[in-house]
Amino acid sequence: MIPTVIEKDYAQVWDNCLRIIKDNIPAQSFKTWFVPIQPVKLEKNVLTIQVPSPFFYEWLEEHYITLLKKTVKKELGADGTLEYTIIMDSSQQNSSPFTIRMPASHRNAISNPSVSMPLNINHEGGSKEIPNPFVIPGLKKIKVNSQLNDRLSFDNFIEGDCNRLARSAGYAISDKPGVTAFNPFFIYSNVGLGKTHLSQAIGIQVKNNFPDKTVLYLSAEQFQHQFTDSVLNRNQNDFVNFYQMIDVLIIDDIHNLAGKQKTQDVFFHIFNHLHQRSKQIIITSDKAPVELNGIEQRLLSRFKWGLAADLQLPDFETRVAILKKKTYNDGIEMPNDVIEYLAYNITSNIRELEGALNSIIAQSVLNKKSINLDLARRMVDKIVICNTKEISIDYIQKVVCDYFSISVDELNSKSRKRDIVQARQLAMFFSKEMTKASLATIGLHCGNKDHATVLHACRTVNNLLETDRLFKTYHDELVRKIKL
Ligand code: ADP
Ligand code: MG
Repeated sequence: MIPTVIEKDYAQVWDNCLRIIKDNIPAQSFKTWFVPIQPVKLEKNVLTIQVPSPFFYEWLEEHYITLLKKTVKKELGADGTLEYTIIMDSSQQNSSPFTIRMPASHRNAISNPSVSMPLNINHEGGSKEIPNPFVIPGLKKIKVNSQLNDRLSFDNFIEGDCNRLARSAGYAISDKPGVTAFNPFFIYSNVGLGKTHLSQAIGIQVKNNFPDKTVLYLSAEQFQHQFTDSVLNRNQNDFVNFYQMIDVLIIDDIHNLAGKQKTQDVFFHIFNHLHQRSKQIIITSDKAPVELNGIEQRLLSRFKWGLAADLQLPDFETRVAILKKKTYNDGIEMPNDVIEYLAYNITSNIRELEGALNSIIAQSVLNKKSINLDLARRMVDKIVICNTKEISIDYIQKVVCDYFSISVDELNSKSRKRDIVQARQLAMFFSKEMTKASLATIGLHCGNKDHATVLHACRTVNNLLETDRLFKTYHDELVRKIKL
């Protein structure tokens, strides 16, 4: 008789492991990758955990192997090991769970699409390959214009911290559409951060990998218009039938369906039909599912079935890489300092960054002048002035310098003259208050100072605001001018 104590042990051991893991990875990753895991048993210091799919196993092995190993050893001692039980896709005939031994080496199947995923299975002592669950036989062929734009490929989608999870998941989906844990795949972000690009890249890559699959990209608005037309023309059934034949359905900007009850109803049915048949659904939105207003609860709960991943603002290096890739693709030579200048100053979104780049190129062609920093400065100033919400460090410096009648070079010099120090500290303070730049970036912009100097400046300004009335007047007037 197996005593119940052991049952409690494995749950307890896994619970302890989870506690350590939780402290070591971002909350979103923990929720996605560790919450769905079930501990199964603990025998002879081997802890068995059950994961929902082969893909899940791959991902854990790819991204969390080191952490998992360390944690298990911490809990079970040096000879503690881990085994997985993988739940196979339900469409597979052989659906009994397999036990596989955790491989010692780091796998690399996901980021490298050319590596296939044969899993070495230890099944009752024998070794066997899991049949590839990702081949769907008997595809119906229909002619569909996928509405994909070649430019929006993975090749042109620069990877950065801001998009790593979403991009990797997208890549994995394009390898195995419909059968990863990411169905639906919900991508959300503010405007201009790459939702459309990434969702299209997945579509393009699926077409490359599986030319027979029917991929359709469309905006939620297009979907809604088609539906309204079908109601008017009384061919609603054709409309629904058409969508039910799609293998990979990409619906962009789902938030535009807010309040459109009938369209949501029909989308709900299409969603269910596709999802039940392991067809891939990709949705983009300007908000996370929990924050989407005006969308039916039953749809929202389905959006949470798969993976919801957000795209963040790109950091400086990523912005530089994006600009370089674009100029390279367009065959344009752009001096490095211009690229860096743009990347420093335009931080709000990638569309604006590209817009500034295009304006500079257009200006230089129009005036037959070479692209240089001066031109870039003028363009950026224009963009910044047009867009009151986005204020750059350079713009702040310019306003502060004009106000105190000093030059930007003086502001950024090492001068300890009182009025210059004061202007510099105010410029640093406003940069911290009004831009998203870090203390380090602000320091770099203010004549290569370090982050501690910026921090000190901010504190000084805060103190002076409370004690020095004239200083407070300067501050208030400058705020008005900067925000003009
Ligand atoms: P969204 O749909 O979130 O509003 P888009 O996908 O339209 O944003 O992206 C805006 C612009 O930025 C597009 O031209 C796109 O190609 C570009 N872009 C976005 N993310 C990246 C990236 N990671 N690498 C390169 N270009 C990008
Ligand atoms: Mg978009």
